[in-house]
Amino acid sequence: MPWSPPSKTACACTTTNPGTLTAQAQHLHYRTGGSISSFSHLIRGAAIMAVLTGTEKIDRELLNEIQHRPRRGIPRTPPSRHHSISTMRTAAAFRIPASPLPRPVRPYKDETTPSFIRRLETANTLRRGQLRTLLKGSRRPWIESLASWTDYDPAVLVLAMPQLGQHDQDPSVQRKLAGRPTRTAHTVACHRCTLARAAGRYVEAYSTHEQLICPRHGLWIGDDVSGSTDQFSIRASPEITAAWHHHRNLITGHGRPGVRKAFHIASVINRRWYDQFQHFTTATDTYDALAADQPRHGNSYAVVAASLYPCIVNLTAAMASPHWAQIAHSKRSRAFLDKVSEDVTEGWIPKGSFDPLQHWMDTDWIPGFRGSDAIRTVKPE
Ligand SMILES: [Zn+2]
Repeated sequence: MPWSPPSKTACACTTTNPGTLTAQAQHLHYRTGGSISSFSHLIRGAAIMAVLTGTEKIDRELLNEIQHRPRRGIPRTPPSRHHSISTMRTAAAFRIPASPLPRPVRPYKDETTPSFIRRLETANTLRRGQLRTLLKGSRRPWIESLASWTDYDPAVLVLAMPQLGQHDQDPSVQRKLAGRPTRTAHTVACHRCTLARAAGRYVEAYSTHEQLICPRHGLWIGDDVSGSTDQFSIRASPEITAAWHHHRNLITGHGRPGVRKAFHIASVINRRWYDQFQHFTTATDTYDALAADQPRHGNSYAVVAASLYPCIVNLTAAMASPHWAQIAHSKRSRAFLDKVSEDVTEGWIPKGSFDPLQHWMDTDWIPGFRGSDAIRTVKPE
C-alpha cells in the first residue's frame, strides 16, 4: 500500500481505538484503489460524519456510509449488511455539534432549503441526505444547526432564505423580507449569477411566474429549463427582454394574481397555436435568431418557449385588462378579436370552435395552479 494510515489526532476522533484504521487497510485499499487523494477524500468524509454524529469514531460501519467515488476502473464497495441507512445509528440519538463543517457554503438569495443542504453535503463530500437525516433527527431548530455548520449568523441565513425564519415574528425582520417570493414555486437560478456569488452552477431558488430571464446576464431561465446547461443567451433577440419589462409593468398596473392568471391562459393559447400551425412570423423570426446565435440549443423546447414569450405577453396585456376581458366575453367580442389580430396574430382573426382563443372567449375557463405566485407582504402594525 503506497500510503500510511493518518494520525487519529488529526481527525480528532477521540474514541477510535489504536489500530482501528490499519485493521481496515484491505477495505480502504479496495475503496480507494491505493490512491492517496482518493483515500484522503474518504477519510475526510468519514471524519466529518464522526464529528457530526457525535461518535467520534471511524469504523467499518461509518466508512460504508460515506459516499465515495473511487478512481475510474476501480470496483465500488460491495453491498454491505451495514450499508442501509436504516441500520445507521438512530438519527434521534445524534448530537449536533456547534462546530462549522470544513467547507461551509455561501447562502444564495431565495434558495430552497433542500438546495442549500445539498450544496453543503456536496462541498463536504457527504452522501446525499446525510445532513438532512441529522436535521430531522434533532429537536434543535434547523436554522440553529445550519448556522453552526456554516458559521453564518442566523440572521444572515434568514435574509437569504426567509423560509428558515418563518416563525420569527420580529416586525423589522418581516419588513426586510417584504416583496420576496413565498415558498411555493422554484426554478434553477441563473447559473452565471450563482457562480458570481460563489454558490456553484446549480442552485434552486423560489421564484414568481415572471422570473423567466436574468436581465443582468441576458439568459433565458424560464419555461422548459430544467438545469443550468439549458439556460441560454437571449441577446440575439432584444424583443424578449422588452417583453419582460412589459410583463412587469402589467403586474404593477393590474396586480399579480390577475396577470398570473391571464399569463397562464395566454401561454396555453399560444402553445396551441404553435402546435396547430407553428405560430406566426414574429415568433418564427425570434426562434431563427436564437437558434442561429445558440446552435447548441437549436432543438430545445426552451428556445420555443422563449420565442413565444413576446406574443404571450402581448396577449396577456389584452386578457389582464378588465376592460378588454369584459369585451372578450360580451356580444361585442369582435372588438377584442380586432385588437388581438393587431397586437398578436398579425392580422389573422382567430375563429372556429377549435381555436383556443375562441374557446376561452366562449367558456371563460380558469386555470388551476399548483402552489401560488405570492410574495411576502408586511402586515400593517
Ligand atoms: Zn444572472
